[in-house]
Amino acid sequence: MKLTRAFRLVVGLLCLAPLANCAVNPVTGQQNFVTMSESDEVRTGKQADADVRKEYGVYDNPALQRYVNEVGQRLAQKSHRANLEYHFTVVDSPEINAFALPGGYIYITRGIMAYLNTEAELAAVLGHEIGHVTARHGVRQQSASMAANIGIVLGSILVPELRSQGAQDLLNQFGGALISGYGRDHELEADRLGAEYLARAGYNPQAMVKVIGILKNQELFDAQVAREEGREPRRYHGLFATHPDNDTRLREVVGEADRLALPGADNRQAAYLAQLNGLIFGDSPNQGIVRGNRFLHGELGFALDFPAGWKIRNQPDKVAAFSPANDAAIELQMAGPARATPADFLRRTFRLDSGNELDTAPINGLPAAVISGTRQGKPIKVGTIYLKEKTFVLAATAKSPAVYNRYREPISAAIASFHALQDAERKLAKPTLIHIRPAKKGETFASLASQTPLGKNADGYLRLMNHAYPTGEPQPGQSLKTIE
Ligand SMILES: [Zn+2]
Repeated sequence: MKLTRAFRLVVGLLCLAPLANCAVNPVTGQQNFVTMSESDEVRTGKQADADVRKEYGVYDNPALQRYVNEVGQRLAQKSHRANLEYHFTVVDSPEINAFALPGGYIYITRGIMAYLNTEAELAAVLGHEIGHVTARHGVRQQSASMAANIGIVLGSILVPELRSQGAQDLLNQFGGALISGYGRDHELEADRLGAEYLARAGYNPQAMVKVIGILKNQELFDAQVAREEGREPRRYHGLFATHPDNDTRLREVVGEADRLALPGADNRQAAYLAQLNGLIFGDSPNQGIVRGNRFLHGELGFALDFPAGWKIRNQPDKVAAFSPANDAAIELQMAGPARATPADFLRRTFRLDSGNELDTAPINGLPAAVISGTRQGKPIKVGTIYLKEKTFVLAATAKSPAVYNRYREPISAAIASFHALQDAERKLAKPTLIHIRPAKKGETFASLASQTPLGKNADGYLRLMNHAYPTGEPQPGQSLKTIE
């Protein structure tokens, strides 16, 4: 969760564009049914870029941004649309993802960078995204969804009124593509183009296959952790996630690029790892940090305790906690500047079917109001707290009144635990960092895991980061990523 304010993207402009232009596809040379000229495409990308930057946040490390941009520009110059102005940005997200907007705006999360080990692998991720831009997948996708007038609704189930407008606009405009990719054919085309750009830029195109193997292992591991935690496994970007790493078609399309590869291609491991040293791993302080059941936010200056044993998910626009059986949930979101009183806010924002009695007692000295009742047949309890002129909303619900009754106490306690961050808590709100150093003799991932704050699956994370999943061990002297 990070500090966001409501903002709007002018989506309406797009609808004024002529609806059925055919444009020549830069990659295939064939005519595509698209609604957008190149200048419209660039303008669309630029407008959405502002939203992506606000929504995800740009990772605050100018040297790393410069490095990623340099690698990206080298590839882009070898692409089918070298004339476009490309922008490469590392976004401040622990999620494992990369995505492209139309017009040459490309993003990679710091989360995925932690799992890559060479510059060639970074180039593979960027090359794949450049492939989406050069083949105009975003534009084609958008045209298809506009033609069918599909509105994709994702995100907050509990308090849709508060869903960040920026996130909503991005979802409306680009649909699932940012989250789940563009479908098998487009993903394979992006892999093929990416491998070609890798080869032309002096990297070994097989890095594309390697990256897909890394993401595949990541997916296997997350499925196992998700089972233990009783949550849904994460879905990564498109076929990057669903390719088997021995996929025949993938090997074919990447193999085509092998004949373009320059002799003596260097994967530039040392250069990449030097950039990664000190990278934040997991939550960052301006997104809030989870320690056990406590959620602490240094920048916004608050902390609260979710019920013991609940699973906490920290997302860009909210923090959600789920009961062990996933039959109850609490969400925390922000809702703009604090105006009038918390009770006014609740009356204005939430229409309950029954209940509605308001408790306006302060919570830990902060102005607050709590309402409980039912909405759409489900029990709901909503607390609003004002802190430093900001509105925080905690909403809890359960599958049924019987389930809600079981959790009534812990839900009330969670809402009542919201407080301004104490000085002693500030040091807990510090992030964990990646350190690169040579492996020592006798070190194992189990011994390294015990020195991290990553919890019971720490050895799995370390193995994935060091390309040693599922059973490898450090070799003395190798460059090792550790978490401290
Ligand atoms: Zn893709």
